[in-house]
Amino acid sequence: MSRGVVILGATGSVGRSALEVMAAQSEPPALEALTAYRDVERLAQLARAHRPRVAVIADPACGPALTAALSGTGIEIAAGMDALADVAGGTGSDTVLSAIVGAAGLLPTLAAVHAGKRVLIANKEPLVMAGGIVMAAARASGAEILPVDSEHNAIFQCLPTGYRCGQPPEGVERLILTASGGPFRSWSRAEMAAATPAQAVAHPNWEMGAKISVDSATMMNKGLEVIEAHWLFATAAEHIDIVVHPQSIVHSLVVYRDGSLLAQMGAPDMRIPIANALGHPERLPSGAATLDLIRAGSLQFEPADAERFPCLRLARAAIDGTDAAPTVLNAANEVAVEAFLSGRLAFDGIAAVIEATLEGAGRLAVRDSANLDAVIGLDGWARAFATERIAGAKYTA
Ligand code: NAD
Ligand code: MG
Repeated sequence: MSRGVVILGATGSVGRSALEVMAAQSEPPALEALTAYRDVERLAQLARAHRPRVAVIADPACGPALTAALSGTGIEIAAGMDALADVAGGTGSDTVLSAIVGAAGLLPTLAAVHAGKRVLIANKEPLVMAGGIVMAAARASGAEILPVDSEHNAIFQCLPTGYRCGQPPEGVERLILTASGGPFRSWSRAEMAAATPAQAVAHPNWEMGAKISVDSATMMNKGLEVIEAHWLFATAAEHIDIVVHPQSIVHSLVVYRDGSLLAQMGAPDMRIPIANALGHPERLPSGAATLDLIRAGSLQFEPADAERFPCLRLARAAIDGTDAAPTVLNAANEVAVEAFLSGRLAFDGIAAVIEATLEGAGRLAVRDSANLDAVIGLDGWARAFATERIAGAKYTA
């Protein structure tokens, strides 16, 4: 196992699972830094338990509270978004787990990639908004990208030994991403229109943060994952399929030229892909229960329904559209999900806002998607557009 780990987004669902996996090793790696957004109490509690060298809070206003909460521990404190990028790219670590939610993770993740680290990526939104930039930076610096998202980690495990992300895989015809179908898998569009945030975040198989839980309910998560897979595995989106598999036991598959399908299976527990990425190429214990095939019983596979889940259609259209479209799709989705969670937008308004924002962006001159400032500018434009649409109350229940 590597030494000196930074966990970006340590207080989140993935971050806490990673800390559990690390603490359970017979020789846990040194912890360089734990970061969080504003949750001082939880960050302080994790820092006291896991003893990183530095604890970083992204919101500068929370710096004094974190200093007070960790006084006497000898743990260094830093605050602000720049401090996140500093620890991610700094010399104190060789491994960075990118587990912030949303576009906020882009700059710290890029800092780690530019510094040539092993970067374990759970935070899919930066790959959706700027995958070309992230992967080009990894090629230039020699950073090794390891996928943590369960589907992408499954595919990574099914690819030939020695495979490195960013290269087209040998002998592979297609990639198949499995999707649980989320809490509304069998709901009609009319039923979904009135779905509440509490219903949307109640995922049948996985325990996750609120944003990705809503993305699973709209199935935008799978759309984002097609774009994520496109960049991680240098594979055209038309060679990436989605299959609904309600049991979440087969985590994804690789279809080889000779007709072989390789799948990775296991309990739906993020500690498994986290342990795989942390230890790669070694196999570490994860603490997760081993799947019992007899108790798992039968496995179902169904086509994904882009009629009932329009976000699937929008994500596909974005990949096939201009280079700028995935950036717009991601930003509009983040704004719409936030509005839904805070009761300002109906569930079916999420797709409507994203569609309107993509249409609005179609009238913009195409930006240079290889340029980070252009991507950040476009992200800001799409957020403002989507916010204005929502404020117009056109889509509120
Ligand atoms: P979460 O909401 O539980 O945690 C998010 C973390 O990011 C927290 O530590 C929070 O403090 C931090 N954060 C949030 N906003 C921030 C900001 N503006 N600046 C700095 N830090 C900020 O999220 P999660 O469920 O752990 O998901 C994290 C990422 O991993 C997401 O991109 C998600 O799509 C991906 N992912 C999660 C799972 C899962 O099982 N939870 C599975 C696959 C992929
Ligand atoms: Mg996933």
